[in-house]
Formats: sequence, C-alpha cells, structure tokens
Amino acid sequence: MIAKSPNVAILALLMVACAIGPSPTTPAHSETAKPPESPSTSVPGAPNDHTGSEESEEEATSDSEDDSASSEKKKSKPGRIVLKTVYDDRRVGDEQRQAIEAEMGLVEDEELLEYVRSVGIRLLRHAPPRPFDYEFKVVDQRVPNAFALPGGKIYVSRGLLALIQSEDELAGVIGHEITHAAERHTAARIDYARRINPFSIGLFRAATIAAYGREQERDADRGGQILAARAGYNPAGIATFLRKLDAADRYEIGWSRLPHFLATHPTSPERSSLASERASGLKWERQPGIADDLRFAYYSMIDGLILGDNPAGGLFEGSRFVHPDLRFSIRFPEGWTTINSQQAVGAVSPSRDAEATLTVEGRGTDIAKVVDDFIENEVDGTRVKVRERREIKLGELPAIRIEGRASSALVGLSVQMTFVAHEGLIYRLSVLSIASGASKYRGRARAFAHSFRPLDDEASRSLKVTRLRIARALENETLQALSSRTQNAIELVYTGVMNDLFASTILDKGTPVKIGLDEPYIPKPPEEEDPDTLEQPRTEPGE
Ligand SMILES: [Zn+2]
Repeated sequence: MIAKSPNVAILALLMVACAIGPSPTTPAHSETAKPPESPSTSVPGAPNDHTGSEESEEEATSDSEDDSASSEKKKSKPGRIVLKTVYDDRRVGDEQRQAIEAEMGLVEDEELLEYVRSVGIRLLRHAPPRPFDYEFKVVDQRVPNAFALPGGKIYVSRGLLALIQSEDELAGVIGHEITHAAERHTAARIDYARRINPFSIGLFRAATIAAYGREQERDADRGGQILAARAGYNPAGIATFLRKLDAADRYEIGWSRLPHFLATHPTSPERSSLASERASGLKWERQPGIADDLRFAYYSMIDGLILGDNPAGGLFEGSRFVHPDLRFSIRFPEGWTTINSQQAVGAVSPSRDAEATLTVEGRGTDIAKVVDDFIENEVDGTRVKVRERREIKLGELPAIRIEGRASSALVGLSVQMTFVAHEGLIYRLSVLSIASGASKYRGRARAFAHSFRPLDDEASRSLKVTRLRIARALENETLQALSSRTQNAIELVYTGVMNDLFASTILDKGTPVKIGLDEPYIPKPPEEEDPDTLEQPRTEPGE
C-alpha cells in the first residue's frame, strides 16, 4: 500500500545512515513532544488504579490528580513520553494507534472482527479493572504478529489468525496481550519515546513497537493463561501456539525482516513447555466457544482470509512492484531488499547506502505545483537543495525530475526524484544515497524512474490472491497427497506447520485441513471523486 507521506523516504534513509554511521542523538519527536491536549484529569469517575497487588513501582504515581507528576511530565521532558499513569497509557495509546494503523493497515472484515472482539471481551471480564477502552483489531499483515499499545489497543495479524487452529489458542494470545496492557508493561520501560524515535524506524517502524523483556513475557503468558482458564478456554492454547510459532519462524526466515510476534515478544526454547506445564496446574471448565462448540469451528471464521501478500496493497514480483488497484508497475534496482508497507514502497541497496522509494505526493495533474510544494517544505528537518530540475517523459507520462542534495544533522544525501502523474495521483519516485557514493547510483535512479508503467486492465486482472480455504481429507490421505490433490498454493512444510501435521501423516477421512488456493484478484475500480470511496472496505470476491 502507499499513501501520502512525504517524510518516509528521508526517515528511512536516515535509518540506513545510522546503520553505517555514528549513532545519532535522540531528537525531539514532533508528534510526541506535544503536551497532552487535555490533562489526564479529564477522566472523571474513572476507577482508581490501585486495585491489584501485581503493580509495578511506576504505579506509585498513578493518581491522575497528582500535580507534581503531571506538571513535570508536561514541562520538563518535551521529547520523551513517560507513562506514569494509566491515563498516560490511554493518551499515548490513542496517539500511537493512528501511526500504527496507517503503517500496517487493517483487515476490514466485520464478521471476523466481531469474532476477535468477542473473544477479547470474554477474557476481559476476568482482567484487572483499568480505565481503558479496550479495542481488538486485525492488522493486514502476512506474518504472525500480535501486540498491545498502551491503554488496551490490541491487535492480531491475519497471519497469526491463519496459523492459529482453535479459539483456545486465540484466547491464549489475546489474553497474553491483555496482560501486557493491563500490567502496563510498556510503562516499565521508562522511556517509551526511544522506541518510537524516528531514527530507529523508517520503513521498519513497526518492528519497534514494543520489545518486551523475557520476564514480562513470562508474566504475560501466565496472566493470559489465567484469563483463558477463567473464561472457560483450555489454558494450554498459548503453549501449542508458541510451539507452532517457533516452527513457523524457523521455516520462514524472511520474517526476520518484518515485524512479527517473536520480534516483539522475545521467546526462549523453554517458554512453550513452561506454559504447557503451567496449564496443567490451572483449574478450568470448558465453556462453549464463540465460534461454536465444534472442534474445528474456528476454521469457519478464518475461511477466505488472505495469505501472503494482499494485492490490494500492491505486491512485489521479484524486483518489480505491481499495483493492480492504482494500475501501474515499476521495477526497483535488482538485488535490493524490498519493503512494502502501508505508507511506502521501497528498496534498500545491499550495502545500505542508498534506497529507492515510491510514495504518493499529491492528487491531480499539476506536477509542477506538487514539486514546488515539496521543495518548499522541510521534511523532518531536512530540506532538499535542487541543483537541476527538468521536465521529462516517462514513456507517455509527463514528469519532472529534480536532482540535488539534502542534508540532515547526520549525513549529506544525494537526491534524485521524479514526480509523475498517473490516473489522478502524483507519485514521487526517489533514490537517496549517501552523498559520497552518489555517482554509483545515478544510472540506477534513472532506470528506476523510467520503469514506471501504466498497467492495462488485462494485466491488473491477471494477478492472483492466495486465500485460506478448508479442504477435507479423503480416506487414508496424507497431508502431502491432499496438498497436491487440492493444488494447495502453500508450501508443504508451512501447510504442515499451519495444521500441526507432518507431510506423511495419514489423515482421518473428513479431517479439515487449512490450505491456500490461488484465486483471481478483482482490482478495485478506478477511484471516483467521492472521497468516501476511499474508506470503503475491500470487496471480498468468491464469498
Ligand atoms: Zn508478549
């Protein structure tokens, strides 16, 4: 996906610069430096937080009426966020939510959301009271991931839902995240700002949401298991989930580049067995599941979920990026590491001294004005100094190329940007490199821009989307045989992980098995003028 976000390219390159240069000093982050719009006392009647004995020492100042704490917070540390109270959690969580959701995107499937929400609410009845507006959402991420923002905003990814096999496992994961939020584990890391520091983020922003400590992970596992047991779920769910996650992580090495569950919730080899042991010591009584009482009822909830990349956000085929809804393709430099996040599409050179990005810079056809605006505005303290500006054509499309320099506090950057109008949007195709190595990348920057091509209808309809479907085993069928009979698009090993089965396992007749099927992708019709159409959920074909 790409959205208008002029600063991503430069942020990302600064991140690259950090990786090869001296470590930067922490700057004041403009978004987080703002004092709270309304003081935390604006929550009349919210329950006092001194309810549990499990609190950490930060709770000592949790009374929102505490003048000294809140005034210090407002005046003396403009660039930092200190989560002193539950009310700070709420505020920071609300601020973070927008950035995270813009970055990752949400799955807008009302039925699925309602389901996840229901499981969350059932667990919450047993959680320590907090003045949080808990929310449960599904992020549009292919990797298994789950996280909690301060103040009870809880997210699971579609990749996690695909890996999970039962409501018990889901309850274990959501209970784990509720515990992180309720126990205020983020607050225990005093300087939250460090983790959202723009120099540590760039295109990898989401990876830095919250890497908890091992201790906190153990607490969250235990807390989540207690919630699950009290809510009538098998508290061993988190243990079986963690085991699968370990296997999945070993299998799909590519995940290490993307934010995922194990990056934010550090694990240890014994964690799953520890959780398993703990579960056997917990008393619980099975309550009917929300999906249904049947063993594989959960599967009906995730049938149709997109696996892998969602073409709605555009996707990479090797170094070529294709966006079927916005109807263009572009080729990134060969061999560069590509990234497709909600806010930008980009690639980083192997030596991490250059990056190419594609962003939407504006609407309409007036490229010159968009370029003027762009040059005029400082982007995160960095101003582009233009040395050359010329009108060019990318194929048939009118475009403007600028070349020049940008300097930041850290490092001089060489900049080549091409602005091109296509079907109502103006795109910026940028290559930024460390100034000292600029000549190396000049040719590649031009080739990158000139590879921008409109996509015709036929090409945009030829893309496939892989959806999770449920197949039933035949008599004496192995997973391997089932996989080839159904033309399963998911590799056999990962299919095994998703189903907790081996390839050679002989299945009972009728056993439901999660597979992936390649189905035609139906592109969104070209955008109308009505801005409301932007907000509409994607249509789900084949349902
Ligand atoms: Zn965790």
